[in-house]
Amino acid sequence: MSEEANPFESLQEQIDDAAAYLDVAPDVLTRLKHPERVLETNLSVERDDGTVEVFKAFRSQFNGDRGPYKGGIRYHPGVTRDEVKALSGWMVYKCAVVDIPYGGGKGGIVVDPDDYSEAELERLTRSFAKELRPFIGEDKDIPAPDVNTGGREMNWIKDTYETLENTTAPGVITGKALDSGGSEGRVEATGRSTMFTAREAFDYLGKEMDGASVAVQGYGNAGSVFARLVEDLGANVVAVSDSSGAIYDPEGLDAVAVKDYKNETGSVTGYADADEELTNDELLTLDVDLLVPAALENAIDGDLAEDVQADVIVEAANGPLTPDADDVLTDRDVYVFPDILANAGGVTVSYFEWVQNRQRFYWSEERVNDELETVITSAFDDLVDAYETNDLPNFRTAAYVVAIERVVRAYTQGGNWP
Ligand code: GLU
Repeated sequence: MSEEANPFESLQEQIDDAAAYLDVAPDVLTRLKHPERVLETNLSVERDDGTVEVFKAFRSQFNGDRGPYKGGIRYHPGVTRDEVKALSGWMVYKCAVVDIPYGGGKGGIVVDPDDYSEAELERLTRSFAKELRPFIGEDKDIPAPDVNTGGREMNWIKDTYETLENTTAPGVITGKALDSGGSEGRVEATGRSTMFTAREAFDYLGKEMDGASVAVQGYGNAGSVFARLVEDLGANVVAVSDSSGAIYDPEGLDAVAVKDYKNETGSVTGYADADEELTNDELLTLDVDLLVPAALENAIDGDLAEDVQADVIVEAANGPLTPDADDVLTDRDVYVFPDILANAGGVTVSYFEWVQNRQRFYWSEERVNDELETVITSAFDDLVDAYETNDLPNFRTAAYVVAIERVVRAYTQGGNWP
């Protein structure tokens, strides 16, 4: 795991790589490589023992030309200002690739939630919601879950916002629990879009998904849902990992049984029906048909990319490959299908949730999944079209070419004011 790559610099490099194929004025490009604003705040939270602890938190609003800022809030000890800026930029281009009417934002609190009680996490979350209140809103900036946050935290943020504003505004946040205005299909949406992307990629490349071997790095929400859905397509999930290590069975693991085991014990390691345990890097360099990084940024750097043996990589995490890794994998003809398409199901179903909230009219799970499939497959076709028409080096560049064109159009149509 490389610690050196700065995710914000990676984002800017990805934009530059695609802009080389586009006619974008240099100053417009500069604007599209930097956030519009970043909130940095320090939250004082009372611990259960009566002491007070201060937590640093950020919200970056990267670009709002295509609609309200949109993106998750993560709780992680490794959160930094530059990481949040990068993640907010990736949201801009992700929403543009799937053509939903949002800009991009992201937030984070520097905290390891495992070290705190539920009551402490509630006070921390409500404290952040109070700081965010002037900046968020159904038509302004709409947070959502990300690493280590979910429906519980979203419900607290919604409740805090609605209480302070003395209104109901369920569309101020997405990823809520069903009874608090959440959408069917939202929890599974990220892993589902990764499955759709992998399915379309294999089809495009003329590869069989039935019997294909798959390794999944990271077994949280995105990775575990993806593993279950790709098994339904006939693939063989041979290895999965989490922060405690990896398990491997060339005959195939049972994705649901491994998830149940992780829910019980806290990790995938020690799962009795696996053949052997591997390190994280051993999993990433397994000779498999499909590798799915589903954890954090910088999982694969340039050095590790030399040893990757997978034929196809589909990114469920945000930013799991460094730009050096991209260069190596492009040279080695390993196909990479990027995060801003493959994990866009999360924000796409967030958009459906927001539409349902605004209309006070709720959809069936079948409708959500069908509409998600339409969005992801049509975005996939747009990428292939850009890739083939412009003879682009890889699918990440194709995704950014599609997305940047859309963002630039909205930016320039708005004009420059004042
Ligand atoms: N955190 C997710 C992402 O990185 C979802 C964001 C959202 O639903 O707004 O795409």
